[in-house]
Amino acid sequence: MQIALVDIQRRVQGRVPLPWIHPEPAWLAAQQAAGRPVVRFGDIPLVWSDLRLTLRQTADILHRHDALERAEHEQFVALARDGDTLPPLVTQWYLATSGVEAGASTERAPAGAPPNLDQVLVLSLRPFLARCAEALVQRVDFSEWRHGHCPYCGWEPDFAVITPGADRRLICGRCLGQWAFAPLTCPFCANDDRSLVTSFATRDGRYRVYACDVCKRYLKAYDARSAARPVMVAVDTIATLPLDAAAMQRGYV
Ligand SMILES: [Zn+2]
Ligand SMILES: [Zn+2]
Repeated sequence: MQIALVDIQRRVQGRVPLPWIHPEPAWLAAQQAAGRPVVRFGDIPLVWSDLRLTLRQTADILHRHDALERAEHEQFVALARDGDTLPPLVTQWYLATSGVEAGASTERAPAGAPPNLDQVLVLSLRPFLARCAEALVQRVDFSEWRHGHCPYCGWEPDFAVITPGADRRLICGRCLGQWAFAPLTCPFCANDDRSLVTSFATRDGRYRVYACDVCKRYLKAYDARSAARPVMVAVDTIATLPLDAAAMQRGYV
């Protein structure tokens, strides 16, 4: 299932143009000072026909692997087909989940929306949002960003990399943007008590899990300190599925 999902994202992302995003320096500074990310909804190079196709294919794959029940799959198929419902829904969801605009509603979706909307939209929007992060990575300095959420799109980290210099960079679960974060602080609840962070590695030392004993969440990392290649998120998240099982067995989520 993971491989099929990565495959669609790669195909769509190859078609999405690199967006032309030039935010005002003063606005960028204000966003960062307020802990707000910098990709505005209007910056995302969305081609609705591509998004509808990606949404449909993502829902199909999840359904085929029993990760989505039939009734909910049909809801997504209808959503992908109906040109009028999707744009306001995606706009509302991004504004509520990114925090890019001060004072935006945190209501993610209208009543009756599919229960797995977050999962499906995260995957379907990734090819478009990843292009935004690519466009901004050279242009915006996020070295002062100290938050656990993504400076590009505001979502949570889903993976991390330990650099050869033993720093940790978090990788966004939505746009794949990266940012530096304290190596032993939990990005989900900011717990920085080392006695309450459990860390364990695979036998070959290539991957590591940081699990928080306060909020019970965990994050996997690729340890690049003695590695021959850089992190490859699509490959490494799939290669570490056994680590997810190990973390969950220990009671983490
Ligand atoms: Zn992001
Ligand atoms: Zn925590």
